Amino acid sequence: VVTSLLHFTRKTERYEWIQLVGHAGTFKEGYHDGFILKELCEQEKRCFELLQTDALRTFVPRYIGTVRDDEGKNYIQIQDLLATFRDPCIMDCKIGVRTYLEEDLAKSEKDPEPRHDLYNKMIQIDPSAPTAEENEIKKVVKPRYMIWRETLSSTVELGFRIEAIKKSRGLMSKEFQRIRRRDEVKKQIVEFVGNSLPRAIRYLNRLNELKSISYRSKFFQTHELIGSSLLFIHDNNEASIWMIDFGKTQPLRSGIKLTHDRSWMRGTHEDGYLIGIKSLIDLFTDIIED
Ligand code: ATP
Ligand code: MG
Ligand code: MG
Repeated sequence: VVTSLLHFTRKTERYEWIQLVGHAGTFKEGYHDGFILKELCEQEKRCFELLQTDALRTFVPRYIGTVRDDEGKNYIQIQDLLATFRDPCIMDCKIGVRTYLEEDLAKSEKDPEPRHDLYNKMIQIDPSAPTAEENEIKKVVKPRYMIWRETLSSTVELGFRIEAIKKSRGLMSKEFQRIRRRDEVKKQIVEFVGNSLPRAIRYLNRLNELKSISYRSKFFQTHELIGSSLLFIHDNNEASIWMIDFGKTQPLRSGIKLTHDRSWMRGTHEDGYLIGIKSLIDLFTDIIED
């Protein structure tokens, strides 16, 4: 996971474009003012297309098609959400009660060989995590590791986790993988929002709007949203929230319906997206009332 600082042009002036998470090289300056390029992923492109006319469209970067660069690499062209902000603070929250697909879990089970490297990663984070048998062989199977890893952050309990925060002119922090408890998460959000009640209220209003629109969104009713984030952005004038990253968002197979509001059990495909939104709403409400 690499943080990218690129220089983009906004009208005539150059400005620093910040990528909080993901691999460096995924994003490039766009060919049109106010747009950036993200490496093409067919699944994500399809989501952006559908979302342009969905009830959720005001929560999604605008999408204006794909382009191929000089090297033959393909990109989607999406709205640069930072373009209208001055020296913004940014927070990426990954929404949902799990961040891998059921298909990925199934794939990992095809290789039943317990792994030494995963055992080592596990004890480095929590020496008490392995079972007696796992300690015996000093190995862990991949699916067990995947499920365990999700319980380290607030993903399972709160339905979201903070991936990264960039404070204005300040440091970038990505040491959030192990922030699990609600009070710890709240502390980070309080720090991110800063001492501004109007800003906290704007964020809360936007979250409430997102929740109510999601109930009438065709896209929301027909998709499993995994690994998708909400991007919080503010500067001294504005504060807003958008949905980004649909690389692992997929249409529901026929016969499967999601509430988006239940904890996950294998086979249900529940993503817990609304659990995350509601937790964020509760947290911001708390913060405003404090
Ligand atoms: P990963 O799957 O590892 O999370 P990714 O390659 O799919 O990463 P995204 O999650 O879509 O990439 O975006 C990574 C970061 O880039 C975000 O955290 C955010 O800082 C920035 N970013 C993404 N989309 C936009 C956008 N439309 N406008 C401004 N910044 C964006
Ligand atoms: Mg992402
Ligand atoms: Mg992604």
